[in-house]
Amino acid sequence: MTKDQTEEIVLYGISGSQGICIGKAYMVDREGVDVVERYYIGPENVKKEINRFKQAVNHARKELSGIIEDIPEDLRQHAYILETHFLLHKDKMLYGKTLELIENEQINAEWALRKASATAKSVFQNISDPYLQARAADIEHVTDRILRHLLGAEDVNISEITKRVVLVANNLSPAETSQIQLDRVMGFITDRGGKTSHTSIIARTLEIPAVLGLERATALIKNEDLIIVDGNEGIVIVNPAEETLQRYKELSQRYEAHKKEVIRRGDLPATSSDGESFRIMGNIELPEEVVAVKDHGGDGIGLFRTEFLYLSRDDFPEEQELFDQYREVVELMAPLPVTIRTLDINGDKEVSSMPTPEEANPALGLRAIRFCLKKPEIFKTQLRAIMRAAAHGYVRLLLPMISGADEVTETIRLLDEAAAELEEKEVEHRRDIEIGIMIEIPSAAVMADMLADLVDFFSIGTNDLVQYTLAIDRGNRHVAHLYNPLHPAVIRLIRHVVDAGRYRGKKTYMCGEMAADPINLPILLGLGIEELSMAPQSIPEIKNLIRRVKVSDVRKLMDTILQQPSEEDMQKVINDSFGDLLYEDIYSE
Ligand code: PEP
Ligand code: MG
Repeated sequence: MTKDQTEEIVLYGISGSQGICIGKAYMVDREGVDVVERYYIGPENVKKEINRFKQAVNHARKELSGIIEDIPEDLRQHAYILETHFLLHKDKMLYGKTLELIENEQINAEWALRKASATAKSVFQNISDPYLQARAADIEHVTDRILRHLLGAEDVNISEITKRVVLVANNLSPAETSQIQLDRVMGFITDRGGKTSHTSIIARTLEIPAVLGLERATALIKNEDLIIVDGNEGIVIVNPAEETLQRYKELSQRYEAHKKEVIRRGDLPATSSDGESFRIMGNIELPEEVVAVKDHGGDGIGLFRTEFLYLSRDDFPEEQELFDQYREVVELMAPLPVTIRTLDINGDKEVSSMPTPEEANPALGLRAIRFCLKKPEIFKTQLRAIMRAAAHGYVRLLLPMISGADEVTETIRLLDEAAAELEEKEVEHRRDIEIGIMIEIPSAAVMADMLADLVDFFSIGTNDLVQYTLAIDRGNRHVAHLYNPLHPAVIRLIRHVVDAGRYRGKKTYMCGEMAADPINLPILLGLGIEELSMAPQSIPEIKNLIRRVKVSDVRKLMDTILQQPSEEDMQKVINDSFGDLLYEDIYSE
């Protein structure tokens, strides 16, 4: 087919990592693992089949440890993902269950593994938290690796690519992503995956453009097709027309120049052009990410999600283990603040030795503070570790999923108890830390005036606040188009929270994803939110935009903005008044 006959195709997906690249497609073939047959092996072959499975697992683990050893230095911080995979190979849910199925049902190892894997995945998929949902993908990657060894299929060896290409895959595992060498791979696109998948996280660390969740990319794209990946907009253009190509070449150059400049100025303060100061902080999940926050000019940690230490293990972490991790973060960031959020999970779910409770609506179930208050010993262990870390720097305590006053008073009572325990043992700690609550349930937003009397600050978690206010499951892609932080109801709730806090001398911050999207920035500044926390890579851009905005202009427009009846109207007012400031750098002609 000649160039003229190929038609330009535009595919819309999810932006996994920002940036624009143009290059030839390199299809990452994952054939051989998708088709698995089921056959009866008979009692006489059970032992043999079990050995075959165990051998495949051993080979898979060996292969993975080779990859871990070869991980390039700048991706070392992500080795934990692969280490988690390493452990998952022998996980009870996967390994134990497969052996059980081979034995009880006398079926072949491939089928047993697929079956065990499907059950394990559904456990994670039913959790409303997208971070945990994405763990289903980890199970799949591990399953695929073992299956490849069972079936004798070839693994994809990304490190052997010799040309500079754009990877096109159904899904890329973290192991595959971490083999990406920047001099060979310009960017990648996948049919599956989303913003919170580990693959996206690694792409953002590598700072290469990535668009995920395209659904049909591998079906529509052929090897060597020319493709444009616009990670800013979540768009992929296949076989672009000459005009499109020229436009994107220009956009790409502009974007690169812009990014360089923004990062260069990342350390400058986030002070608006009329002199108002804001703090732009980082959200982290692991101590290793502190470096990224510092490198991108973060003013502290606005959200330290602490779930990770509780995952992929059979027991709950000890106080000392938690303390060591928290202390490391606190000392690295000192004297800047570290906002440690207490456990936001239904602990039973990730502790693999415990049975998983069935919950019809896990997002409305026994999670976060509800779980912690039901298991005070587990909660107090974490509270003690946090108070001990507070003796080594600036710590703030943040409580997730608060729905009313009782949960706060009960937590403060437990905090006092935990402090008394440390006191008694003469362990160094600080009880006088700032206590804040996440505002992510509408009832807490409505009650903000009363809650303000009980705490030192609010932090708005829009990821959940939007979900609960609009009744939109944040992890359900069928309603994703309705998930909208600029819905007037959400904005009114936020305004109420900020005003209620201000009236009582309490600060309101924001740590949900809404804080990192430029379109929302004028409203957030206009409402008076002084601290925004986001993924480290977003910090320089938001700081840069704040320096361009005149807050007094935004304030003048707030009444008009707040009167808009719909999200589209609100967006239009913002775009008409501030679009030039927010987007001028790259997309305007
Ligand atoms: C939120 O809900 O906005 C938030 C920051 O918390 P998480 O994404 O961890 O639920
Ligand atoms: Mg939340």
